[in-house]
Amino acid sequence: MHNIAFIGFGSNKGDRKKACSDAITALDAWSGCRVMKISSFYESEPWGYEEQGLFINCAAKIETGADAFTLLAFLQATERRLGKEKEFLWGPRTIDLDLLFFNQDVIDAPGLKVPHPFLHQRRFVLEPLTEIEPSWMHPVFKQPVEKLLQQVSDTKKIVKLAEART
Ligand code: ADP
Ligand code: MG
Repeated sequence: MHNIAFIGFGSNKGDRKKACSDAITALDAWSGCRVMKISSFYESEPWGYEEQGLFINCAAKIETGADAFTLLAFLQATERRLGKEKEFLWGPRTIDLDLLFFNQDVIDAPGLKVPHPFLHQRRFVLEPLTEIEPSWMHPVFKQPVEKLLQQVSDTKKIVKLAEART
């Protein structure tokens, strides 16, 4: 388990909190990784395509023995198992699992870009990341996530939910 990765979770269809919780449970149950930290749940306005319901978002820090491609394959299998059927880019989805960071690696492969290419523009990713690991460095911008959050121009509303995660 010598790699550290951060995963972003999002859902705006069906039971949104349950979908995120089920995805965390799936990661936790997978022998390929150990969940180290989980952020609060946040409720956020949609980004990109705006005529859709509010999202629940959160982030997790994991330790994994898998490489980034194997981890992405696991995330995609979990999305399918939890019923992701997205009709169009940035449209409503039951669950979206994004690989945000993998160590300090920079990957630019056809099916996998790491760090996730939009994370520095999205408050709904930077807020939960900053909650769990404010000093984590973005390997391309050479800035910690808390700094990226201070600088982000995204004005979409995001609210940290007080209730305990279920
Ligand atoms: P989005 O999250 O942008 O709404 P999807 O979840 O449907 O869209 O992902 C679309 C594609 O993004 C997937 O086919 C996947 O291969 C690719 N992808 C590239 N980099 C990443 C990453 N870091 N994490 C998750 N998916 C990624
Ligand atoms: Mg995705």
